[in-house]
Amino acid sequence: MQKKSLTIAVFLFGLLLVLLAHLSGRTMATPVFTFAEEREVYLTFDDGPSTAVTEKILDTLKAEEIKATFFVVGERIPGREKTLRRIRDEGHTIGVHSDSHRYETIYASDAAFLEDVEACADRILKTADVTATVYRFPGGGRHPSKETLLKERGYRIVWWNAVCGDEEIPGADAKTLTERAIATAKGKRRVVLLLHDSAPHGATAEALPAIIEYFRGENYVFKAF
Ligand SMILES: [Zn+2]
Repeated sequence: MQKKSLTIAVFLFGLLLVLLAHLSGRTMATPVFTFAEEREVYLTFDDGPSTAVTEKILDTLKAEEIKATFFVVGERIPGREKTLRRIRDEGHTIGVHSDSHRYETIYASDAAFLEDVEACADRILKTADVTATVYRFPGGGRHPSKETLLKERGYRIVWWNAVCGDEEIPGADAKTLTERAIATAKGKRRVVLLLHDSAPHGATAEALPAIIEYFRGENYVFKAF
């Protein structure tokens, strides 16, 4: 008798599961917990270090407990050594974004390009004791022969697939930058967001808390290269 009631109970439970599966068809078809659904965002800051803007960005990242990547310009390090070391001390990644950021010099030849990369990497090493292993091309784009040179030297090249518009929209305020970041990141599971932390980009530092809030709300995991 006891065995029979157990069988009935198991049958009823099974029936309940089948019913639930029918009622919540969408949920059953796309399970909630799947690695494919994981979202990640890389906050990347180019053209620094600067004094006020980089420091303000670092304050926000610290408060939010987020690690980011800073692609620095070598010539901007002198006088801002403390800021570069703060980037390192707070656990962020320091990458090479060229020494001069002058396109006509950097892209004149492969030899000139390499010289520029090495000059920047050297300043990072001497100032912060960090061997940079990530690189971002000034102005972006593809540069096949230069990409090969970088890879041979162990660099990982990082492009971007979303922007906050702080270079394209002159004088944009924090709200505009936040909206542009959201619009360009929409629908992407892996976002590499381009931001700038050089001196004229106070609005980027101002927009950062709202940008972070958006990605948090969308369940993105923050990552650094
Ligand atoms: Zn740049």
